[in-house]
Amino acid sequence: MASGVRRIRYAAWVIRVMIAGAAGRMGQAVVAAVAGAEGMEAVALADPTLADGFADVASAIAATRPDVSVDFTQPHVAFANACACLEAGVHVVMGTTGITDDQRTEIRRLAEAGTANCLIAPNFAIGALLMMRFAAEASRHMPKAEIIEFHHDQKLDAPSGTGLRTAALMHGDVPIHSVRLPGFVAHQEVILGGLGETLTIRHDSIARESFMPGVIRAVREIADRPGLTVGLEQILFGDESAN
Ligand code: NAD
Repeated sequence: MASGVRRIRYAAWVIRVMIAGAAGRMGQAVVAAVAGAEGMEAVALADPTLADGFADVASAIAATRPDVSVDFTQPHVAFANACACLEAGVHVVMGTTGITDDQRTEIRRLAEAGTANCLIAPNFAIGALLMMRFAAEASRHMPKAEIIEFHHDQKLDAPSGTGLRTAALMHGDVPIHSVRLPGFVAHQEVILGGLGETLTIRHDSIARESFMPGVIRAVREIADRPGLTVGLEQILFGDESAN
């Protein structure tokens, strides 16, 4: 009897997670991170290239009714995935970059109209969030700045979501230069220039594991963040200023 009670309480507490893009570079890391995290379970792997997964998020939702979808797919499918999830009452943690402003507006509308919430986070690495915060602060005092972002050569979008987000948080017009070469994971330099001096703020993700603590934190907290949240910094630092 006692063990039955424990089992019911445990079952109610486990967060049921779908991973969209589960076969991809980021998706595989998310599958491993969810498997190693307390209080959550991967109930659906959605990726058309997986023989033993679901071909799309709609069929995965219908079969498994997940609580949260973690999306690391591709810019041209992530918006439709998010809409399908929000309309079905599934929270979305969106790591895929390249979402347009119009798409973001529609995602916000769906998240505010329904019961499911959405986080769009161009970068889940704590060091990258700090880099963006320091760059925003520095640009108040050194308004001339440029960004160089470096990624692996399979990345589909340029400039990167992190580069665009950093520029949006900084003062002034900040040009972004994109380097795409094998060997890189995700790196960014923000260079600020003043009279006879420069300041460089650099962040390096040297492995995809760097993003996982942030992803897991977002999965835990998305149910308590009504509507659309933009940027993991609002969950980590309680920063409401840039939503
Ligand atoms: P990837 O190409 O390795 O993986 C994408 C996967 O999505 C592929 O396996 C593909 O088959 C799958 N896919 C395509 N259409 C799908 C659909 N309709 N449903 C389900 N799955 C589908 O790409 P990646 O390197 O893993 O990056 C994925 C995205 O994450 C990119 O947009 C990238 O910029 C972004 N990214 C974000 C962060 C962050 O911190 N937010 C970090 C790294 C990468």
